[in-house]
Amino acid sequence: FLKGKRALVTGSTSGIGLAIARALAGEGASIVLNGFGDEGEIAELCKELNATHSGADLTDVAQVEAMMAEAGDIDILVNNAGMQHVAPVEEFPVDKWNLIIALNLTAAFHTTRLALPGMKKKGWGRIINTASAHSKVASPFKAAYVSAKHGLDGLTKTVALELAECGVTANCISPGYVWTPLVENQIPDTMKARGMTREAVMNEVLLAKQPTKKFVQPEEIGALAVFLCRDEMQNVNGANWSIDGGWTAE
Ligand code: NAD
Repeated sequence: FLKGKRALVTGSTSGIGLAIARALAGEGASIVLNGFGDEGEIAELCKELNATHSGADLTDVAQVEAMMAEAGDIDILVNNAGMQHVAPVEEFPVDKWNLIIALNLTAAFHTTRLALPGMKKKGWGRIINTASAHSKVASPFKAAYVSAKHGLDGLTKTVALELAECGVTANCISPGYVWTPLVENQIPDTMKARGMTREAVMNEVLLAKQPTKKFVQPEEIGALAVFLCRDEMQNVNGANWSIDGGWTAE
């Protein structure tokens, strides 16, 4: 049902973004991928999804602007690229704070302001922001991430109100722990730091807050993104949709 629509998914060479790109492509949308990675693997993804790719570093506003100019009119904008750093607030590296705010929050402001004129002209658009359970609640040692994700929720609500009469919706999807490289790569370090087995890290650290005790799968996020693109979802606007196994219900 998305034939003729053009979707840009940031941070889509891996994990959740890739699953969203695959799900949107599965409904016929044409895809612009973004993100870093092995050139050969990205070329394979472009072939698989009949997509183009921008390697723009979204922490750099000039590169965001170039990507948006190259992408042309976008009907579905998915702001998904994000990164994490874990440290106590008084020791939090200032450069990491700046990078996380730039990628997880400011980049979404830039892509949104640049995509909106085209969406308004067409009278149809979807802005879907990958936030997090950490856009609703905090955890210690994640000051920059939690601040950026709470900010992304605020940006989403503001855009939703401004565009409410234009056929454009803006919503957040807020996952709990999703099984992606971002999460998997934390396991060996945490095993070492805490002297735990892989199973213990997964169950007692990562899934401690997720009542289902199961990771969300990236494909589930893809399905929710597709759902938000349906015309029947035109009145879902400014929402922050949890997909966290009940984490934020507690
Ligand atoms: P991932 O590490 O698998 O993928 C991140 C993507 O962002 C990759 O494509 C990477 O190349 C790209 N990227 C990184 N830095 C970039 C930059 N400067 N410019 C452009 N692209 C850049 O991560 P993921 O787990 O799929 O996370 C995707 C989003 O989902 C993030 O916003 C993350 O905060 C959010 N999220 C993830 C989880 C989880 O448990 N995995 C939970 C909640 C929210």
